[in-house]
Order: sequence, then C-alpha cells, then structure tokens
Amino acid sequence: MKTYTATIGLEIHAELKTKTKMFCDSKNDADEIKPNTNICPVCVGHPGTLPVINKEAVRSVLKVGIAIGGEISDFTEFDRKNYFYPDIPKGYQISQYKYPLIKGGIINDIKITRVHLEEDTATLNHESGNMNHESSLVDFNRAGVPLMELVTEPVIHSAKSAGDFARELQLLLRYLGVSDANMEKGEMRVEANISVSDTSSFGTKTEVKNLNSFKAVEKAVAYEIERQTKLLENNEKVLQETRGWNDVKGETYSQRIKEDSHDYRYFPDPDLPKLKISEIPEFAVEALKKEIGELPSAKRERFKKDFGATDKEIEVFIELPEIAKYFEEVVKGDSKIIKLAINYILSDYLGLLKKEGKTTTTISADNFSKLMSMINDNKISSRGAKDILALMMNENIDPEIIAEKNGLLQKNDEGEIKKIIEKIITENEKVVSDYKKGKEASLQFLIGQGMKVTKGSANPEMLKKMFKESLT
Ligand code: ADP
Ligand code: MG
Repeated sequence: MKTYTATIGLEIHAELKTKTKMFCDSKNDADEIKPNTNICPVCVGHPGTLPVINKEAVRSVLKVGIAIGGEISDFTEFDRKNYFYPDIPKGYQISQYKYPLIKGGIINDIKITRVHLEEDTATLNHESGNMNHESSLVDFNRAGVPLMELVTEPVIHSAKSAGDFARELQLLLRYLGVSDANMEKGEMRVEANISVSDTSSFGTKTEVKNLNSFKAVEKAVAYEIERQTKLLENNEKVLQETRGWNDVKGETYSQRIKEDSHDYRYFPDPDLPKLKISEIPEFAVEALKKEIGELPSAKRERFKKDFGATDKEIEVFIELPEIAKYFEEVVKGDSKIIKLAINYILSDYLGLLKKEGKTTTTISADNFSKLMSMINDNKISSRGAKDILALMMNENIDPEIIAEKNGLLQKNDEGEIKKIIEKIITENEKVVSDYKKGKEASLQFLIGQGMKVTKGSANPEMLKKMFKESLT
C-alpha cells in the first residue's frame, strides 16, 4: 500500500482596525450596516483621484512582523494587481507583490513566507443568494479597508495544525490590537491550499476559499485530503483549481480553474511613493517594539512558571486577557492563594459571570482576594465560599461581612465543637461501634452529622481530627 502525505499552506487575510481606510480618509468601520456610507471618490475608484498611504496600517503590519520574528523589509512598494470584477471598479487592487513589508517569520513552528498590505474590495450582495442571481448590489463600505495578507510555507501536514495556526494568528492579531479578526464577521479570512502526494515531490494543490470559522478550516482541509487521496488511489488526477466550501453539506466544490500570477500583470503603482522604512520616523522599529505588550507565547510561559497553572487553565487565561489580568491582581502579594484563585476564578466565578450575561468582572480584586484568604485560613468552608461568592455578585462588599451576616463563618471554637461531637457520639451508638470495628465510612457519616448540626459552618478537617481523638 502506498503512503500519502498531505501538505497544506495557508493564505490568511485580516482587516486592520485603523480609524480610516488604506488610501483615503473614509472611515474604516466594520460595523457600519448602511451600505455606501463610508465612501469617497478614492475608495469608490473614480478616475483621477490619488491614493495616500495610511501610516497606521503600515505600522500594524510592522508590529505583526516584529511579533512573528520576520524580516522587516527596508524597501517596500505597492503594486497594482489587475483584474476585472464589479467589486473593484478601478480594474486593479492595490497590493504588494515583489517587495512585501515582511519576509519570513514563524508561528506555532510553522514558517511564514511573507506578510503584505493591500486594500479590501467592495462587497457584492447577490439578490437571490446563489450564483445564478439576476442582479447584485455593490456596497463600498469595505472597499479600501486595509487588509493584511499572511502566507505560510507549504509545511503544514494536518487539518488540526492548520486550524491551530489560524487560531494562534487570531490571538496574536488581537494581542497586538491590530485586528479584531473575527472569522464570522469576515474580519479574518482563511484560504487553504492542499495537496496530497505519495512521492517526495508535491502533488497538485487545490485552494479552498470562503472558510468562515476555524471548524470550517479543519473540516475543509480534512475533506480535501480525503478527496484527493481517493483520486490518487484510483489513478485519477487532482485538478489545480479553486474550490468553495459548503458548510451545510460539509463538502468542497469546484469553482474555477486557478489563474496564474502572470495573469494579473502586477506592476508598481505609479501613484504611490516607494517606502524606505528606516527613513520614516513613524516606522522606527525600536519604538514599535516598545508599543507591543506581552504576547501569548510569553504569557503562557510566565503563567506556567509563576503560577504553576496547567496548560488547559493557561489557555483560558490566554483567551480571556481581562480575566487573566484580574487573576493577577487577586493573587498579587499572596502566593498562598494562587491555586485557590485559579480554581475559583476559572470555574465558579466565570460560571456566575456567564450566567448573569456579564463580560467584565463585578467583584473587586481585593474582595476576591480576601475571600480566597478566608478559605485558606479555614475561616469558611468551600461550600460557604461558593455561597459567599454568589452573594458578592449582587453586592461587592467585604466577604467577611457577608459571611458573618449569613452565618457562614466556620466554627473553629474547639470547646463548642467538642460538645457537638460528644452529643453526636452518644446519639449514634451503632455507627460508632462500626467505626471502632474498622469501618472507615462510618467516620464520614459522623463528620456529615457534624456539618449538618453546625449548618455547614464547622471545619470538616477539624471535625475529623476531633472525632478521631474522641473515638480512640
Ligand atoms: P500560487 O502561485 O498558486 O498562488 P504560491 O506559491 O503563491 O502559489 O502559494 C500559495 C499558497 O499555497 C502558499 O500558502 C503555499 O504555502 C501553498 N502551497 C504551495 N504549494 C503547495 C502544495 N504543493 N501543497 C499545498 N500548499 C501549497
Ligand atoms: Mg499566491
């Protein structure tokens, strides 16, 4: 039997969240729903207008380049990519071809070929919702929005790692603050190139478009690997083509035979200046580096090293930077409550916030920290802590006050507990004698009785210790 190797390379576009568009000062607003609101003669493509480079967009891509450890080109320019389509009335898209802003770089051990800057196209709204539409409406709100394109080398070998790469890139763009990168909103768009081969050279690749979720990326890649493998097994040829993804059917389908780059007749846009990055103060790399905060990979390491969090816990903190920041405030200056705080924040507190539809924390870090210390000092039981936490959701006050008001402080008064224990022992002769004969479960029962009598306010560890002492 032959063994087949799958190879995947990704091309990912992300809309940058600059205030204005790539080559004009029309507003860049992904949430604008009224068609053709944020437009001007430049982004609508009127003849005779002149584009002006948005420096903020260039800075955003430079930050991405720094973050992935890519080479920042000192010389860069914009090219015209010529083609006809109603969403690009100039007859060309301004992009970068020979001199991309960034060359190389790495994410998740996957080599990146390049990152460049271009302009987004208008959106076409097909009236009947299929390809046999009778008419289409053009909305130019998106036309000219700065679009970053990142291309990977063909070095990915599974659907899962293709999905993981896209997820990690999304995180990175969000941490850098350069794009919201919501796939559902089309702010991040993934195209997957896939080939399968049973020799040491590459097989013919297909390119799958319109993947608008991470799951779709993984499913489409897996589907193509299977489809191409079957073709090869039957001695049939894989056609080099562009395919679409039907999420409902879970299938890719042929769209068109792929055009070659020479069809686009790229050439440098004569309307735009060529850029010498090192000579433009706004693009000073050292200054840009200082603007970049802690990135996901560094944060993962720090959370592991400083807090001993598990990989799973770390990923939740990475996905929810606000919660991670809150956690750090809670444990600041008290390493004893780290483990407790991780558990209570990630399970109980997140659960409560979600239940109440809240996206930001409502309990001050100080009060949360105090609650953790109370558990740690055995002042409250874990059951009591959960109750106090729920009460703190309504009223962000000192947990000690809530505990007192609701009788949730643990009884650690030995004298009082001793009396309760003696009473339980006399009332449960049978259980006591079972325990003495060696039945461990009986001790649990007695402790349970102690918790019941004290309405959960006794410290179970203390009960256990004192029962044992009284019964030997
Ligand atoms: P094209 O000229 O067809 O657009 P490129 O060389 O520009 O091809 O590569 C486009 C994308 O396709 C890149 O992400 C690259 O990694 C990927 N790619 C190239 N060759 C293959 C292959 N044989 N199998 C899978 N992906 C590939
Ligand atoms: Mg290409």
